[in-house]
This record gives sequence, structure tokens and C-alpha cells, in this order.
Amino acid sequence: MRKINIFDTTLRDGEQSAGVNLNLHEKLEIARQLERLGVDIIEAGFPAASKGDFQAVKQIAETIKGCSVTGLSRSVQSDIDAAWEALKGGAEPRLHLFIATSPIHMAHKLRMTPEQVVEAAVSAVKYAKRYFPIVQWSAEDACRSELPFLAEIVAKVIEAGASVINIPDTVGYITPKEYGEIFTFLRNNVQNIEKVSLSAHCHDDLGMAVANSLAAIEHGATQIEGTINGIGERAGNAALEEIAVALYIRKDYYNATTRLNLQEIKRTSNLVSKLTGMVIPANKAVVGKNAFAHESGIHQDGVLKEKTTYEIISPELVGVQSNSMVLGKHSGRHALRNRVEELGYTLAEEEINKLFVRFKELADKKKDITDDDLVALIFEEKFDHFKDFYQLSSIQVQYGTKQIPTAVVVLTDGAGNEIQEAATGSGSVEALYNTLERCFQTDVTLLDYRIESVSGGRDALAQVFVKVRVHEIETSGRGTAQDVLEASAKAYINAVNRVFMIEKMREENQKVTIK
Ligand SMILES: [Zn+2]
Repeated sequence: MRKINIFDTTLRDGEQSAGVNLNLHEKLEIARQLERLGVDIIEAGFPAASKGDFQAVKQIAETIKGCSVTGLSRSVQSDIDAAWEALKGGAEPRLHLFIATSPIHMAHKLRMTPEQVVEAAVSAVKYAKRYFPIVQWSAEDACRSELPFLAEIVAKVIEAGASVINIPDTVGYITPKEYGEIFTFLRNNVQNIEKVSLSAHCHDDLGMAVANSLAAIEHGATQIEGTINGIGERAGNAALEEIAVALYIRKDYYNATTRLNLQEIKRTSNLVSKLTGMVIPANKAVVGKNAFAHESGIHQDGVLKEKTTYEIISPELVGVQSNSMVLGKHSGRHALRNRVEELGYTLAEEEINKLFVRFKELADKKKDITDDDLVALIFEEKFDHFKDFYQLSSIQVQYGTKQIPTAVVVLTDGAGNEIQEAATGSGSVEALYNTLERCFQTDVTLLDYRIESVSGGRDALAQVFVKVRVHEIETSGRGTAQDVLEASAKAYINAVNRVFMIEKMREENQKVTIK
């Protein structure tokens, strides 16, 4: 069977999803999970884009040793230099260079002639080869490029030293048949093409990203780029979990395999969904909540008699487990640590200690502590703390059907000062958010508010997700507590803290505009 390399760009293209702003801890956790999942390459970011991007790529490259880490770079020396500084500590440094090759992009965006584009691409690859053992070259908007020109530039960058050639469908325009034909054309018309790896990168604007990626495999691609849950610019990228499972289930047809540990799929999907705040639709293939639910009586009957009557993918294959009670009031620190490790999280001693305190508090109020509860607590301890920003000390909310809802909030700011405010609203949550807005002394627009229970039962933990806009920055936040109002307050503070953190980072370095 042919081996297909999986190139994950959740942390680069995926992080470009509207409203997604991951912090360093979150990026590192996703990178570690991608390593566990068994992806071959992690695209960790765009090092020249900002200091924050640079630092995240550098830390990921230095942490992850089980696969290659790469970063995106325009075809200019300053980008390549920044990428090398960020990536040189990695196990297998590789650079992802790109330049646009379609007439529309060359004329309107780059304002360069085709000859100038070829020259820029070739000299960038040559310059990158001085540092990087592996250089991947991408023809941005390849699918709207003229094929003879695409073949010409690909031949020249191969000659200059590129060893992976990526053919992105940047705008999600191509159909499976046409996409396959581009790969065939290049294989038939480019010298030395057999010496390089061909890569597919598809967007889902017409809902064909996964189908296009699979067509590319049929026509000689040996690398697939995509993201977990298919998140990404606009309608998103190709969903890697769908491609991996399709190759596995239909190996009779594709005769190709990946290195992925499919049992890590569900966990990876959950982690990415929670950290990015991007919800997985219930009917999403492979990882949706309903992907394995059989509703019709005839189907249920069939599955009970013989699973394969209606089930082509078993839930166990992708790591879906029914939620079992694992810990309770009498569980000790040791049991907690073991379970945290089994769930795949790495926590420092100090974090475990704090988690244990929260766990005990929860166990006093809630009989069964499920894995989902534990994960919610881990998230709070590990990712939702912004030590240098606002912290919730206490809330008090008064509500009655014949009263005006009123909230009192006490916060501490990064310097440890206590802030106390009170306000009213037409409902409890509004009163709470009006009060918090006073504490922050800035306008906050609430764009979205969602609440869900972490597990079943009346004593379940509440998890609130919000999306806010502050000073033109859109970001999401989340909060967990046993009470819905406390969870609501935490989510709001979490989102606003993220905005302040982004602003602080922007102050520290002037963000380069990405063209
Ligand atoms: Zn893309």
C-alpha cells in the first residue's frame, strides 16, 4: 500500500478561522495531541507574521520530536530568516514557501509579471535550501493557474531544490476530476517530478475539500494537507480525520494508508473544538455526535442483530467511548494524576495540586466525576488562566420574576487591585455582563452565547461559550462552573482577557500585515 503523509495545518490555516485566537499553551497542547495522533508534519504558524506567531512556532518546534514541524513563509529573505530562527531547533526542520501563480493573483495582488514570479520563487527556494534540509513549495491559487505556466514554475523550483510540491485549491473552486487532472498533467509534463512528493491542499467552499483531496491521492499525491474538524479560512480546509478514515475503510479502493493512530481521532477532535470554540456539527462525518447514532427502528434492529448491517465505521475505531464514571469523592491525588495522564494531558506538579483542590470541591457536590468533567477542570486549570489579567473573586445575582435583575461583581486585576461594581439588566446574564463591562471600563459586544452541560444529570457542570468583540478584536471565551451564572461570568472574563492579551502582544511588536 502507498503511504500518504499527513500535513496538519490546524495551527496555521485552522487558526485563521474567524474568531479563533489560540494562546501559546493551547497551541502547544494541540501540537502534542497531533504528535500523539501520528501526523507526519505540523504546520505550527507563520513565523514572520508576528512575535507571538514566531514564539509559538519556536516552542512547538523545540517540544515536538515525533514528527516534522514547519512554518509558512512568503518568498522573501526576511520571512525565510525568521522561519529558520523559529524552526532550527526542530527534529526535522522544513520550510513551507509560497507564491501565487494564477493570472488574477499575479496581476492584482502581487503586481508581478509571470517571469518575475518565477524568479522570486526560484531565488527563495535556493536561499531556503542554505538552511533547510526540506523545502516545500506551494503555488498559491494553483487551481486557477494556467497549466503550462504551473508546469514551468514547478520544474524550476524542483531544479532549485524543493522536494515537496504543493498544489493548493486556495479558493475552494476545483472539482475532484479537474483536480486529479492537474496532478496527472504535472506528472506527465514536469521533469524530475517523480523525485519529489506531490501534495494536495483543499478548501471546502463548495463542500468538496475531502473529495478533492482523495482525488489527488488517486492521481499521485503522496501528501495531504488539512485540519482537524476541517476548520480554517472561510468554509474551512479538508477534514483530515475524514480523509484518514476514508482511506482506512476503503483501503480496497484507494490502496493507500496513513501513519495516523485512528483511535486518537475523537480526542483530537474534541480538544481542537474546545480550544478553538468551533463547534462540531452533530451530523459531521466521523466525529459528529450523531455519527454513530442509529435512529430508525429498522436500522436499530439491524445493528442489534449484526453491527455491520448499517455501521461501516465502528465508534471504537476512532476512539469514541461511552462515558464511564471513573472518579469520586474518595479518589486520591494518585488516582487523579493517573486518570489525567490516561486522558493524555501533561500537567506540571503545581497544576495537578490545583486541579486536585478543584476536583475535591466538585466531588463534594457531584457524585460521579466523569472524564468529561475532569477534562473541563483541566481546561480551566491549564488554559483559562490569564494570570496577568482579570480574575473573578465573587458574584452575586438577584433575580425574581417581579424584580429588576441586579448583579454585584468583585474582580481583581493583573496588579492585584480589587474592583467592585453593580448593575442591572433585563435578565440575570445581562445584569452580570453589564456589571462586568463596568469593571473592564470598556465596551464589550456580545456576539454569541452558548451553554451546555458537560455530562448528564442535574448536578452536571455547566460550560458556557461566548464570542465577543472588543476594540475591533473578535475572540471566544469559555467558562465552567456548577452554576450557570458563574460559568457565564467566567466565560465573559476569559474572552475579554484574551482580547487584552492580544492587544498587549500587539503593543510589544508591530504586526506585519500578511498579504
Ligand atoms: Zn489554505
